[in-house]
Amino acid sequence: MPVLSERMSKLGTEAAFQVLARASELQRAGHDIVNLCIGQPDFQTPEHIVEAGRKALADGHHGYTVANGILPLREAVVADLHRRHGVSLSPAQVLVVPGGKVTMFFAIMMFGEEGTEIVYPNPGFPIYESVIRFSGATPVPMRLHESNGFSFDADEVLALITPRTRLLILNSPANPTGGVVPKAELDRLVAGLERHPHVAVLSDEIYGEMIYEGTHTSLTTYPQLADRLILLDGWSKTYAMTGWRLGYGVWPQDLAVHAERLAINCHSCVNAAAQYAGIAALTGPREPARQMVAAFAERRSSIIPALDALPGVRCVLPGGAFYAFPNISGTGLDSRTLQSRLMEEAGVATLSGTSFGAFGEGYLRLSYAASLPMLSEAVRRIGAFLEQATPASRAAAGVTA
Ligand code: PLP
Repeated sequence: MPVLSERMSKLGTEAAFQVLARASELQRAGHDIVNLCIGQPDFQTPEHIVEAGRKALADGHHGYTVANGILPLREAVVADLHRRHGVSLSPAQVLVVPGGKVTMFFAIMMFGEEGTEIVYPNPGFPIYESVIRFSGATPVPMRLHESNGFSFDADEVLALITPRTRLLILNSPANPTGGVVPKAELDRLVAGLERHPHVAVLSDEIYGEMIYEGTHTSLTTYPQLADRLILLDGWSKTYAMTGWRLGYGVWPQDLAVHAERLAINCHSCVNAAAQYAGIAALTGPREPARQMVAAFAERRSSIIPALDALPGVRCVLPGGAFYAFPNISGTGLDSRTLQSRLMEEAGVATLSGTSFGAFGEGYLRLSYAASLPMLSEAVRRIGAFLEQATPASRAAAGVTA
């Protein structure tokens, strides 16, 4: 029998992929499933981007590229960040990687080891906690509360920092809550971080262009953090490019060499044609990305009030991303049971809040990157299920047994 390293037992996973597999299995068996479990835009990659990828292949870009990404792509990343946030960064700080996740993996592995702590949002993207454990570090959850729109209180975050803290992970706009951290709170956090110069910060801003309330403040706009901030971003969400596997990190100059060494050990470089497509995305027409955000905004206005009106459910209006994170504790069902019964009995694929950490209990995540008719059908099915299946609705109807 091959013997696995102890470390392998610490690695978690992302439930979305398992639920997606179950939804596909049910669909193959002839069930009609409304799929709101996966976090990807339901749009095709805009044609001018696809064409750039096609052209790169036709032009013979079939070999390795430099490990950190072709220079015109890294220049385009820097120009895009200047356009969006007014910041001046260097292409030498940019490491192009196969998807947003890779920057996360590298940053956590770079700082995490036995005896250290990493602070991360909970409920939050599940890979943070999984990789923190894998690295040997202790995951320290930063609990996010519905009562403040799933933003955070800077003092609460700062209170979690100890001499053992190596890395603080932030994600705004957030998965799974759609929460957006206001600039005033970031100002207070950054001011407080000056007392903790040993702590690096990973800012996951992959939903930075999907914002419906207020504005997105990038942590790159705080020069005080320049020597310890890692920005995680990429093309997956903004340009509907999840399958191209293209993302980037912007690293402090001193850390960029370490990140590049990890890349060389891991994947050498990113698919060359995808990199050319990435240039077209950043430098070409912005209208397709704008239209996609407008569609998400319309869907948000439709699904959030509809969820909020269901028995036992209340739902805060998310400021960004494309997720609804309704509180379902009033249904009397725990979130894993509700996820599984909605799939099996109502034909709606969702994710339990606990797929995003222990503090997700009492919530469900629905991706509204789906058409309006699909969203209203999902809400209709969930409503019908709750009406007949949950203790809360039976109590409301005066049924006692
Ligand atoms: N960060 C967050 C918060 C996400 O939700 C996701 C994907 O769902 C990622 C990073 C990873 O994105 P990618 O598919 O580009 O690896």
